Parts: sequence; C-alpha cells; structure tokens
Amino acid sequence: MSLKVKEIFYSLQGEGGRQGKASVFIRLSGCNLKCDFCDTDFSGGKMSELTHILSIIRKFPCKCIIWTGGEPALQLTGETVAFFKREGYFQAIESNGHYPLPELLDYTTVSPKGNPDYALKINPVVDEVRLPVKKGDAIPDLKRLPEAKYYFLSPVFTDDALATRENINYCVEQIKRLAGWRLSLQIHKLISIE
Ligand code: SF4
Repeated sequence: MSLKVKEIFYSLQGEGGRQGKASVFIRLSGCNLKCDFCDTDFSGGKMSELTHILSIIRKFPCKCIIWTGGEPALQLTGETVAFFKREGYFQAIESNGHYPLPELLDYTTVSPKGNPDYALKINPVVDEVRLPVKKGDAIPDLKRLPEAKYYFLSPVFTDDALATRENINYCVEQIKRLAGWRLSLQIHKLISIE
C-alpha cells in the first residue's frame, strides 16, 4: 500500500480542540477544492510505501499522526489507518468533509468550505467542526453541521495584518452573539512554527 505524500514534519497542532499537542503531520498530495484563502501547497509529492512512511515517522518521539492535505480523505483508507493503528499511533484527520472519513480514526476535524450542508450529509458525526471565517461570512446554523464535541470559528489569517484583525474581530462578535461556537486561532502562525 502506498500514498502520495507532499511532506512529513513534526510540530505542534496549531488550532482546534487539540491545539498545542505535539504531532507528526503527514500532508497528502491533492485537493478537490480551490479555496481562495488556501495557504497550503499540496501539489506534487511522491508515492511512498506505508512501510517507508513508518520508517520516517518512527524517528520522531511522538505517537500521534495528523493526516492533512490538501484533502487527505482522497487517499486515506481504513486499511491505511489500521496499519498505523497496529503500530500504536493515535490518528487525527483534518478534512474539508467532502468525502466519507475512514474508520478507526481517533479524532476527526471537518472544516467545511463554501456551502456546509454537504458536511452534514457525508459525515454526520465528527469530533470537531472548524469553520474558516472572513469578515462578513455567514455563520451556519449548528443544525446544518455534523454533530460534534466542538464547534470552532477560525478567523482566516492573511498577509494583510489589518484584514486578519478584522476577521478575528468579526469571529469574536459572532461567538458572543451566537451560542455554541468557540474561537480557534492559528497559533502556529502567531508563533512562527511549521
Ligand atoms: S480544502 Fe483546504 S487544502 Fe483544499 S483548497 Fe481549500 S483550504 Fe486548501
């Protein structure tokens, strides 16, 4: 079994319900969307056998994987998750929610883009919904989203500090106005780590 991998790196989870935890990020190549605020290069990459990926991540003192992308659910299967589970890894995923997530994952984050209704239909129960938000974006009714432990608004960070500040202020206003949401800041960007 193999996966097309863009990059593997060791860092801290920067956002959401597992923020601050050391994690091995496995970024899979490719995405089904082209979001205008996308800050990730998921193009290219190299086909890698699971055993080769394992040999790389074993070097890190950490048994937690975050499957990310691009859209990791384009490639990740239950068999792959089971392989790393047998090796003792906790596995989380960050997905845009357009595809059913494989079984056996330990923590699932769906970050719906555009019309969020699809996320509810495809993955009705997840651990976390994290919504990227720019100033003026409509905040969906929680009933239109998957059932989750946490619902986060994540202000979109841009190169324009003023626009980023406005996105943060807007999220804070919405969280105070609407029940059920929490703020998630991308601390990896604030503290300049990968
Ligand atoms: S779904 Fe995520 S990775 Fe894909 S284009 Fe949108 S922001 Fe980028």
